[in-house]
Amino acid sequence: MRRIAIYGGTFDPFHLGHLIPTVRAEETFQFDAVYFVPAGAPPHKEKGELSRVTHRLAMVTVATLPYERFFAGDDEVFMTGPTYTVDTVRRYRNRFPDDHLYFLLGSDSFSQITTWHDWEALVEMTHFVVLHRAHMWGETLRHKVPERLRDRMRVVAPFESVPDPTGLTVYLLDHEPFPISATSIRDRQRRGLPIRELVPHEVYTYIEKYGLYRRHGEVRRDAQ
Ligand code: ATP
Repeated sequence: MRRIAIYGGTFDPFHLGHLIPTVRAEETFQFDAVYFVPAGAPPHKEKGELSRVTHRLAMVTVATLPYERFFAGDDEVFMTGPTYTVDTVRRYRNRFPDDHLYFLLGSDSFSQITTWHDWEALVEMTHFVVLHRAHMWGETLRHKVPERLRDRMRVVAPFESVPDPTGLTVYLLDHEPFPISATSIRDRQRRGLPIRELVPHEVYTYIEKYGLYRRHGEVRRDAQ
């Protein structure tokens, strides 16, 4: 049985806070493949607030090129209407019926899992690997997690050898936190502050080429 990971997000832009914890997860869980799936029209974001999904997919594609087992998932790119994680995970379940599925997400997102569309079905379909975002960890996180998931939670240290799960499991990967967010990167870019150290260099080149996240009216080429 292979280990397949899915990492959904808006990735606007894809940054090192996404990439480095996933590398830690890959080193720990020995995933056979990790699919980064940019959300088409996530229900919690206002229309027009996001960069075009084709830009977001392109950023994931260029960022994952150097990593043999990391792939961009274009599942949600051409969908119309809101896209839900539960449907994406269902598609991967059908595509990999005999393999272990792991859904990767930050601890802030996991703390809000009960607000996700059809979350009760989602948590029965996949294991979770929760990545460490500093403000939401330990007891603070535990209090937010619904009762039925608490018993599934297991803290894992980076590089620990993790056997195949026997039942549905929520792994909390206790890696060093990377305090980076897409919001702060967009904000820095708008204000003309450097972002080079916060994103993979391929993403930096892409953002500069298309002039993404510049102030309104300063957009170059095909940014919006
Ligand atoms: P925004 O600031 O626009 O809300 P974001 O930086 O949180 O964006 P998203 O693409 O919205 O990034 O998040 C996708 C997933 O990545 C979420 O599960 C989120 O918790 C996780 N994530 C984002 N940044 C980090 C980080 N620095 N460390 C760990 N997980 C992260």
